[in-house]
Amino acid sequence: MDPRSIVLPDSITPADGRFGCGPSKVRAGQIDAIAAAATTLLGTSHRKPAVKNLVGSVRSGLTDLFGLPDGWEIVLGNGGSTVFWDVATFGLIERRSQHLVFGEFSSKFAEAATTAPHLMDPVVIESATGDHPEAAAEVDVDLYALTHNETSTGVAMTLTRPTGIGNSLVAVDATSAAGGLPWNPSEVDVYYFAPQKCFASDGGLWLAACSPAALERINTIAASDRWRPASLDLGIALTNSLANQTYNTPALTTLVMLDDQIRWMLDNGGLDWCVARSRQSADTLYNWAESRDWATPFVTDPAKRSAVVGTIDIDDAISAETICDVLRANGILDTDSYRKLGRNQLRIGMFPAIDPADVEALTHSIDAVVSALGS
Ligand SMILES: *Cc1c(COP(=O)(O)O)cnc(C)c1O
Repeated sequence: MDPRSIVLPDSITPADGRFGCGPSKVRAGQIDAIAAAATTLLGTSHRKPAVKNLVGSVRSGLTDLFGLPDGWEIVLGNGGSTVFWDVATFGLIERRSQHLVFGEFSSKFAEAATTAPHLMDPVVIESATGDHPEAAAEVDVDLYALTHNETSTGVAMTLTRPTGIGNSLVAVDATSAAGGLPWNPSEVDVYYFAPQKCFASDGGLWLAACSPAALERINTIAASDRWRPASLDLGIALTNSLANQTYNTPALTTLVMLDDQIRWMLDNGGLDWCVARSRQSADTLYNWAESRDWATPFVTDPAKRSAVVGTIDIDDAISAETICDVLRANGILDTDSYRKLGRNQLRIGMFPAIDPADVEALTHSIDAVVSALGS
């Protein structure tokens, strides 16, 4: 029998079947926002008031959502988080960085810094996947690179400024965490992300909340004679951002969807509400996994289990890939584990846009698939 012929009853399946970890579920309201912008904003100049006001709304909305202190700025540019690693390599690291590496995404920034000819080799502190290392102050390190949520493994870390680092910066890859996990700006200098995860928008944009110390660093490097390609120049990005613009043309629908998601988050109660909503989904998922003898949360320390990306190991007697195939045939999408991790695992996005009731329905659906597979 082809497992994909298993039919799950509508009564147990999620109302919305999108559980991917990026791009992730877009709410219907965000599509309505695009339609509402159809003739007034889409197809108009990004140097004119309509789009500049939209960028301004995104910047002030994020400032409110994160509760940023005076003097912080939201800086943005085209290219997504991967491009921001190159941007940071050119315009944020002075001489040497330290990287906590505990999965695919955190390893990529370390790689970018390692290959940059104008920087010293970075310090890389690595841990096994399923855990995260701790940062440690070192005299010649001027930027500490942390990852709030390692999307490839479902490990989240509490953000704390390492003790004894003086004026060095703490830069956090928050691509999958921003808008779904709590953080305190006093512990961080640069909190950067792309909008296709908690912000339920499209990819291709990077945004960075920058502290006064980070802005000072950006301006110092921008005034130096270090060669930077203009499209990756953080000084140019900052100047444009302060004018509610980007250096080159942005995708307008991405900004419309992002802004609508920020308004939705603020209208519902802000970051605390978002955090609680993802936490509720996560409690449902992890409690369910712990109560099944064929499922186990991959991250052993409950304090490090992500509330936005859940990774669940499946007993080797049951193929996680087959479970995903059956779910997909029933309209439940992107529950697959991160390929390169190579585990018999499900990975579930639990971003704020995803209804906690749908995560619960997903657990019932997985139960039904496993039962139908005869295990
Ligand atoms: C998705 C993700 C990235 C990559 O984002 P892009 O916008 O595709 O470059 C980087 N870091 C983390 C933690 C991610 O989850």
